[in-house]
Amino acid sequence: MRRKVIFIDRDGVINWDPIGDYIKKWDDFKFLDGVLEALYMLSAAGYEIIVISNQAGIGDGKYLKEDLDEITENMERVVRSYGAKITAGYYCLHGKDEGCTCRKPEIGLFEQAARDHSFIPQETYFIGDKISDIKAGKRFGLKTIMVMTGHGPLQKDSVDDSSRPDHIADDLMAAVHYILGFHKGEG
Ligand SMILES: [Mg+2]
Ligand SMILES: [Zn+2]
Repeated sequence: MRRKVIFIDRDGVINWDPIGDYIKKWDDFKFLDGVLEALYMLSAAGYEIIVISNQAGIGDGKYLKEDLDEITENMERVVRSYGAKITAGYYCLHGKDEGCTCRKPEIGLFEQAARDHSFIPQETYFIGDKISDIKAGKRFGLKTIMVMTGHGPLQKDSVDDSSRPDHIADDLMAAVHYILGFHKGEG
């Protein structure tokens, strides 16, 4: 049976986003409220969780690939300790002005993921906090959810037709409830 895949942005969705700055080391990384439980619910429901994240601070010389690797290792370890699992992560390491084809809103990270994982885009969600996330997800044909954590509250009023998410959720847990069908007032 095909496993279901879910794509999740990292900063501002999984962890606190230091708006205007970067998570440069593991000490900077703080899981947002309810995230570990939400990831557990997705894993328990059979989803493969794949992180899709821009990390231009590496290309722009603010921190090193080794720092990102250490953060990723620790993040995945804590998630595992909650009985959940992050299957894979695809990170753009290019600087903001390098003009690469993977930095969201470009779709290169999803193309990389599609080489390694099997999923049907129209049935697969991408959860992000920025308009650039929603644009990238829509361009790749995914369903999109914008969360009101991280940059969400700052960017939601700038949403237009190219960046209109399928759903807006308060946070990752609310998005997971939506995806798993735990709608308010139903069932
Ligand atoms: Mg983000
Ligand atoms: Zn890139």
